[in-house]
Amino acid sequence: MSRLQHTPELLNSYLKALRLPAMLRECATVARQAGEQNATYELFLQQLTELEVQQRQAASIGRRLKQAGFPVVKELSEFDFAAAPKLNKKRLLDLAQCRFVDQRSNLVLNGAPGTGKTHLAIALGREACRRGYKVRFHTAARLANLYQEAREERQVLRLERQIQSCDLIVIDELGYLPLDRHGAEHLFGFFSQCYETTSLIVTTNLPFADWPQVFANDERMTGALLDRLTHHVHIVTIEGDSYRLRTSAKRGKKGEEPEPTT
Ligand code: ADP
Ligand code: MG
Repeated sequence: MSRLQHTPELLNSYLKALRLPAMLRECATVARQAGEQNATYELFLQQLTELEVQQRQAASIGRRLKQAGFPVVKELSEFDFAAAPKLNKKRLLDLAQCRFVDQRSNLVLNGAPGTGKTHLAIALGREACRRGYKVRFHTAARLANLYQEAREERQVLRLERQIQSCDLIVIDELGYLPLDRHGAEHLFGFFSQCYETTSLIVTTNLPFADWPQVFANDERMTGALLDRLTHHVHIVTIEGDSYRLRTSAKRGKKGEEPEPTT
């Protein structure tokens, strides 16, 4: 009875048909180890299926990280908290648990240029990807452009559906570029849409009082926007000098070329 005999080709074809690539790859090795250790059939199956589950989890984290569109890789582990002594490390590590994403609350990272706002926003966004959340990264200017393009192409609903499908959206550099009337209205629409449905991380160099400057000097619209954004919010202010300038000044002292600052 050939059916009762182990035929590697047949087993491989079943594992392929069931789309279990890790089990296909590791089956022989795990079977050999199980034999050596006199493991039960159940333990063998558990170890083999565990490899498949682990591979799927890693692949889906990889997909989420890619889809998020982070401009560079920054991790919390690379952030030098000693360089930002007024920053509460414990609070940031707590935010990295991403409970604020579950709670649909927002995070505003405020500070001067070069103080690490983008670094922290990306690092927290990547952490959220690892925890299974769907994340997108945009600069404020790019998001305004996306709306403009979507409007011209009559695809605003599609863009709104994409936004709705996210758990967390990072809006970087709010305040560097003032928005025109259309841009301001688009972002106002965006903040309204995300209110209590999608978490936001916003990085900005401006205190809230100066936000009307960004939103076409419309105090009323900016007030309504801030009202929504800050209803459930964590505000982290990073004080101190630019990390870029400090590190290039240090290199300068050692006689190396300073990096151009942006
Ligand atoms: P911002 O967005 O506030 O202008 P960035 O996050 O872009 O600043 O930081 C500028 C550069 O300095 C980046 O390369 C970032 O990784 C680095 N950086 C800033 N602060 C720190 C820090 N405390 N520890 C390590 N790197 C830092
Ligand atoms: Mg930045």
